Amino acid sequence: MKFDKNIKNYIYGELENPLSASFIDNYNPALGQVYSQIPDSDERDVHRAVKAAQRAFPTWSTIGVEKRFRILMRVADIIEQNLETFALAESMDTGKPLSLARKVDIPRAHANLRFFATSIMHFSAESHNMEKEAINFTLRSPLGVVGCISPWNLPLYLFTWKIAPALAAGNTVVAKPSEMTPMTAYLLAQACIEAGLPPGVLNIVNGFGHKAGQAIVEHDDVKAISFTGGTKTGRTIASIAAPKFKKLSLELGGKNPNIIYADCDFEKMMKTTLRSSFANQGQICLCGSRIFVERHLYPIFKEEFVKRVQKLKIGDPNSPKTDQGAVVSKAHMEKVLGYIELAKKEGGRILCGGEQKKVKGKFENGYFIKPTVIEGLAHDCRTNQEEIFGPVVTIMPFSTDKEVIKYANSTEFGLSATVWTQDITKAHSIAEQLEAGIVWVNTWMTRDLRTPFGGTKNSGVGREGGLEALRFFTEAKNVCIQF
Ligand code: NDP
Repeated sequence: MKFDKNIKNYIYGELENPLSASFIDNYNPALGQVYSQIPDSDERDVHRAVKAAQRAFPTWSTIGVEKRFRILMRVADIIEQNLETFALAESMDTGKPLSLARKVDIPRAHANLRFFATSIMHFSAESHNMEKEAINFTLRSPLGVVGCISPWNLPLYLFTWKIAPALAAGNTVVAKPSEMTPMTAYLLAQACIEAGLPPGVLNIVNGFGHKAGQAIVEHDDVKAISFTGGTKTGRTIASIAAPKFKKLSLELGGKNPNIIYADCDFEKMMKTTLRSSFANQGQICLCGSRIFVERHLYPIFKEEFVKRVQKLKIGDPNSPKTDQGAVVSKAHMEKVLGYIELAKKEGGRILCGGEQKKVKGKFENGYFIKPTVIEGLAHDCRTNQEEIFGPVVTIMPFSTDKEVIKYANSTEFGLSATVWTQDITKAHSIAEQLEAGIVWVNTWMTRDLRTPFGGTKNSGVGREGGLEALRFFTEAKNVCIQF
């Protein structure tokens, strides 16, 4: 397992350069410097990968669940044994603190593989008995070659979240990581080779989304697309895949509300809200970016929250003391700073942060942003409606349940929401009224991999996780036998 400055595609079990022989610069965002090259693949590489996956499909789909289980468990073990290498790669590619990659990203990646390797051993289909007349049973077969496309914010974590159920269910895969964060997918390819994954079962093609990614979506022999990324890209993908009647799973953007009632456990809420606002520099689709606080708690909340946000340590991702690393790219930093300017124009007051953080020394060219808290904005202004996806939150007071539900549900998104209250009846009622695929009460990001994961409205179509993912990656066929 090695870091390589020249990342390669993984096709039919081999690590290879793209046919175009051209490469894209890969940046370390904390240093603001190029540190490796990745293949600028095009539709020819994708076509080779699809052909490789087609060749592998007949054997992989019939090899039996136990053999698939064993190989996927071996891949998981190799990732776990190389935790430090994977975590360092993730931190260098994304700018996130090494401690976060070590504690969250990489452990979750091997957990995904183990979860679906074992799930497939217990996966069964329904049967429906029509008394004295007939019996129906449902066969679930793998789809064939499927495409998995993932974003840069949680690179290996989300890549394996798609690949693991697809492979466990007997499909073969052509996958593309984000061109901004390809290193851990490259290490995964090496882990697959070491684990003895048969050639062609998993193929990883690197490159730009509009080129390599789109070629996967367009390819007629790719039967399903599992995509996580922005809502705009999701719309493009849907417009290409829908006329071809491909199965589609879309996990898209969010603008998640965090609703705080005065009767909450204040200390627990405060600690968790710091995380739900700024973990991974606010670049998690589940981060609560709009914080609504019951009016009589609002002044106390504001004072304490801002005090704690100002104490967050920003800088060297390798330091165990660092809370906030760099955001993923210069372009993304500029986009986030642009939203802060917009918030000011819309009448927002910056309570803390609000600008780039210049870190001295080695990291002086890195893309760091001070965690930012803004108040005084209306719920329907652009800052409160559009996904910023950075270390920026807005805080707003509310007086009644009706009012806060209106605010919370006012965006085009519906991914997740958090509610803080000790009143279980209220929690239940608010959870029911929220337009979101996931509601957390008195917690955030507590994940049981068996639960359905995904959003409503423009946050996506379909659900991942547990049986939902295994159902997505299989085709159901009902067989009816008359008695
Ligand atoms: P993008 O939509 O820009 O990209 C996601 C992936 O799609 C990347 O691999 C990208 O490649 C690729 N891509 C881009 N254009 C196309 C295309 N036309 N056809 C096929 N693939 C394409 O999202 P980001 O990477 O910027 O990720 C951030 C977004 O992801 C946020 O909106 C966030 O909310 C969302 N997200 C949603 C989650 C969820 O579970 N709902 C979880 C995590 C993030 P490349 O990067 O190389 O251009």
